[in-house]
Amino acid sequence: MISNFETELLAQKMASYFDEHDCEPTNPEEQYRQNALLELARSLMQGLDIDSGSFDLSDWGQRLPPSAAKAVVQSLPVVIISPEQADKALKCPVCLLEFEEQETMREMPCKHLFHTGCILPWLSKTNSCPLCRLELPTDNPDYEEFKKDKERRRQRDHRLEDLHGAMYT
Ligand SMILES: [Zn+2]
Ligand SMILES: [Zn+2]
Repeated sequence: MISNFETELLAQKMASYFDEHDCEPTNPEEQYRQNALLELARSLMQGLDIDSGSFDLSDWGQRLPPSAAKAVVQSLPVVIISPEQADKALKCPVCLLEFEEQETMREMPCKHLFHTGCILPWLSKTNSCPLCRLELPTDNPDYEEFKKDKERRRQRDHRLEDLHGAMYT
């Protein structure tokens, strides 16, 4: 049984977590998925193989997306931690260790930094940033097709909403 006080504490902890990482949990499900990705990335980093099939419920909407395109991964900028960056005590979201001066990181297009050794195994499994789920392109034509489709549907829904808005406001 969790007391109100503890719930309060937990809420504060969560709030500071998201402040720190500069992102907002949009809803509980989203938050759950985000944590799930980080958990998976951690298990992978610890040498456990992850079962991407556990997400496999028959369509790409439920499945862990395929690995990031090799060329894209290779072109991710390499960042060497400067003394200033080391002073900020930033942590790698996967292993939770602070970045040390001179360590080699990879920078995702979303600007999130990870140890090379933490992010590369992950990107060889799936294509998104474990922190914010920004997706990198993949080498999988089926998945790319699915993504385009999803985008088209999203735009169509958007247009319908606009139309609805125009008619009823
Ligand atoms: Zn790390
Ligand atoms: Zn990110």
